[in-house]
Amino acid sequence: MWGIPGEINKYNGQGCPFNNRCNQGIEVCKNKKPTLKNISLKRQVACNRGGIATVLVGEGIFKTYKYKGKTIEACKNCKIKIKGGETVVLIGESGSGKTTLANILSGIIEADKGDVFFDGVAVKGNNFTRKKTWYSNSFSGSVFFNK
Ligand code: SF4
Repeated sequence: MWGIPGEINKYNGQGCPFNNRCNQGIEVCKNKKPTLKNISLKRQVACNRGGIATVLVGEGIFKTYKYKGKTIEACKNCKIKIKGGETVVLIGESGSGKTTLANILSGIIEADKGDVFFDGVAVKGNNFTRKKTWYSNSFSGSVFFNK
C-alpha cells in the first residue's frame, strides 16, 4: 500500500483494522479481516481487495478526427490501467493523442470504440466525476509533456 493516512485506532477485532481510514474499503472490509496472501515470490498482502485497487481502466480505445478532408487517428487501440494513488504522465509528440486519451478517460469526449471503467463502473459522459466518494479526487488534474 502507499500508506494509509491517519493513526491506528483501537481495533475491536472485527473486519480490517484499517477500515475506518482506508480510502478503498468496501462493504466486506467492515466484517472480514483480510488474510495474508502471496502476490509474488517475495511479496505478501493482507487486503480484501488484493492490495491497491485499479481505479481507472481504458481498453481498446479508438478515436479518429476528420480535418480538412483527412482522417487523423488520435487513439488507436489505446490501453491503460491506473491504480489508486498512482501519478501517471502521458508523454508523446505534439498531436500524438495525449489530450484525446485523457479527455476520453475523463468522460469529456466519447471514444469511437472502446471502454473506460472507473472503479469497475463503465464511464458514460461525466457520470463518475459527479460521485462524492473517495475516487472523486483520484483523477483531478492533467499535465502533458510533448516529447
Ligand atoms: S481495502 Fe484492504 S486495506 Fe482497505 S479496508 Fe479493505 S481490506 Fe483493509
